[in-house]
Amino acid sequence: MKVHHLNLCTMCPYGVFGTGEMVCHALVAETKDGLVLVDTGMGLDDVRAPARRLGRTFMALTRPRLREQDTALRQIEGLGFKREDVRHLVLTHLDVDHAGGIPDFPDARIHVHRAEHAAAMAPSTLNEQNRYRKVHFASNPKWELHEPGGDRWFGFESVQAVADDVLLIPLPGHTRGHCAVAVRAPAGSGTEWLLHCGDAYFFHGEVEEPPRCPTGLRVFQRAVAIDDDLRRKNAARLRALHRDSGDRVRLFSAHSPREYARATGS
Ligand SMILES: [Zn+2]
Repeated sequence: MKVHHLNLCTMCPYGVFGTGEMVCHALVAETKDGLVLVDTGMGLDDVRAPARRLGRTFMALTRPRLREQDTALRQIEGLGFKREDVRHLVLTHLDVDHAGGIPDFPDARIHVHRAEHAAAMAPSTLNEQNRYRKVHFASNPKWELHEPGGDRWFGFESVQAVADDVLLIPLPGHTRGHCAVAVRAPAGSGTEWLLHCGDAYFFHGEVEEPPRCPTGLRVFQRAVAIDDDLRRKNAARLRALHRDSGDRVRLFSAHSPREYARATGS
């Protein structure tokens, strides 16, 4: 199964984030069930009317470089596919920079954890009211909500297959129903798991020993997390996975430019 790594948007936040540049790392997997897109970045309408669609707070905080050619739809077309070829969207969570592309794929099934869907449809705190944008869900998407319960995978529980060799792995903390997504990809003469960790951590050093993260980025993650204790606990589990899984699992966060460069050899 061929898997493509895409950067759907580069964000250039001020120094408070420590890194100066963040990517929006997505995967496109060519599966037996059609194309599976893991995270959707921002969509065409977001690029055209960013302040209205994404909100002024998000724009001011992240300063995204929005370009139509970077959207998932345009990049997938660039790979030689059509919009309809994308059969499944698998979303780590529903923040604007992950769910903005939903309206560009009206025929796709959208896999997300039930708790995340509930948070976006009926936000219960100010944090949740500020982070989700109803405009991304207005086109009546074909939700496939994933419940707690399922298999174990490298010690993680409630893991469910959402498509051929694509797993949704609950990893809450950043948001109520945040998940990682594992995709089995060819590697050498065998396969490896690519683990898209979404926003479970932001900085590549957080899953290394000893863990490290620029102060500004640490403060930011704490501020936006719905449950920061849980987020840090899950980041520690990812660090253990990174240490123990050898070359069987390759982790990356949605926003690390270093990990995106490693994945694409750029
Ligand atoms: Zn994000």
